[in-house]
Order: sequence, then C-alpha cells, then structure tokens
Amino acid sequence: MFENLESFEEAFKKLLEEVLEFDLNDPFKDVEKVLCIEPHPDDCVIGMGGTIKKLTERGIEVIYACMTDGYMGTLDSSLTGHELATIRRREEEESSKLLGVKKIYWLNYRDTELPYSREVRKDLVRIIRKEKPDGVFLPDPWLPYEAHPDHRNTGFLALDAVAFSPLPNFSNVDVEIGLGPHQVSFIALYYTNKPNYFVDITDVMELKLKAIRTHKSQFPDDVWEVWEPFLRTVALFYGKKAGVKYAEGFRIMPGLFYHITPFADLI
Ligand SMILES: [Zn+2]
Repeated sequence: MFENLESFEEAFKKLLEEVLEFDLNDPFKDVEKVLCIEPHPDDCVIGMGGTIKKLTERGIEVIYACMTDGYMGTLDSSLTGHELATIRRREEEESSKLLGVKKIYWLNYRDTELPYSREVRKDLVRIIRKEKPDGVFLPDPWLPYEAHPDHRNTGFLALDAVAFSPLPNFSNVDVEIGLGPHQVSFIALYYTNKPNYFVDITDVMELKLKAIRTHKSQFPDDVWEVWEPFLRTVALFYGKKAGVKYAEGFRIMPGLFYHITPFADLI
C-alpha cells in the first residue's frame, strides 16, 4: 500500500491514520488509565490539573508518580527540609483528591538532586509495569530555557522508562516477580511550547486554581499575588491557540514517533 505513494505528505498521512491509527481529535477515547509523572509535588496540578479533573470525571483512572520530596521548596529558613517534605506530601494528597486522583507513588528522591540514573529509570519502569497505563504524561524535557534539572531529568527518565518497559530483558527482576513487560500507547508532554492537542479547561479553571492553592507551603499570599496572574496567563496562552478561554496544551505522540523519527515534530 505504500509503494505507489509519491509524496511524503501522502505517506505521512497514511502512516498516522491507517498504520498507527493515531487520532488527535480524541486521543483519550479508549483510555482507561494514565500515569502522570511529576518532578515535584505540585507539578501535575500546575501543568495539567484541569485535564486530570476532566479525565477522572470520565471515569479514567489517573495515577501520579512524584519523583522528589519537595525538600527545598521554601524561602523560610525556620522550616527544615524534613518538615517541609512532610507538609508537602499532605498538601499533594489533599490537592490530588480535589481532582479525583486516588493513588500517588512517592519516589522520594531529594528535591533539586534527582539523578539521571539507571536506578531511577528502573523505578519508573516498575511502576509502568505494575500499573499498565494506556498513556504516560510527563514534563516536556525540551521546553526551551527550562532551568530546573529535576524537570529536565524527569522528562528524560520518563521517556526512557516508556521506551524500556516493553523489553523483558530490561530490569528482568520485574518479570521474575510477575510484572510483565508493558507498552504504553501514547505519551503526552505537558509544560510544552509545542502543543498539538488542547483541553478546554474553562469550566474547571477555578477548581484548578483552588487545587494549586492547596499547596499552601508553596503559595502564601505574597507568592500567589504573582502566581495567580501567571497561571491565568498560561491558560489564556493555550486557550488562544485552541480558540477557547482557558486551556491546557500537550504534545501527544504515538510510540513510533519518539525514536529515530526525523518528522516527529510535524504532528
Ligand atoms: Zn517542579
């Protein structure tokens, strides 16, 4: 069916639609469970809280994996890192409940020090094999000017884990303890400047802000004065691209597109 195709455009369209059956009009159509991977305890809600609420309302199970303990996230020198980590865990449990999330994996790496390592990659592969999500959400590690190494490392580690979780000889102790290989059907990058899919969150924007504000240690009044306008501006930025008021933007890609594909940025 491909030998008679003359142009790249024709082949590209056929590959996406007929071979991969990839439909960006409704990428969550047959989805039952997704895993959202976050560097810190407030990143899922900031990056995609509105979408999470919409997914759980549709009966889709949303699970978090939080990579670090949030130990460094304060300017208050009277608060120890240990105290803060305990507070932030509680805040995340409360915030995620507002969005309908029932399960969080805590990997507990030290905030600001998440290593890009085999060990962390294996941790994530094990979670993917255990939960068998249809899709994995992760922060876009190619976001221009992203300065936080935990964010860049989380994105790359999550991509590695998605690539390796189907390989039975990778971390084969998982297979020995009954966790079979698993291939997710899509990845979705949040915190992205190259979105190809938008979720209209206009009707849940206020709830999203409330769920973000549940992270009280991160958003005292003086911080919120800056962050509320910032968060609304981000939602308006994606909303403008989507033709709605407030939106969240994602870069969604099928499996074949995140390895050796020179036209991955065209979808
Ligand atoms: Zn973060």
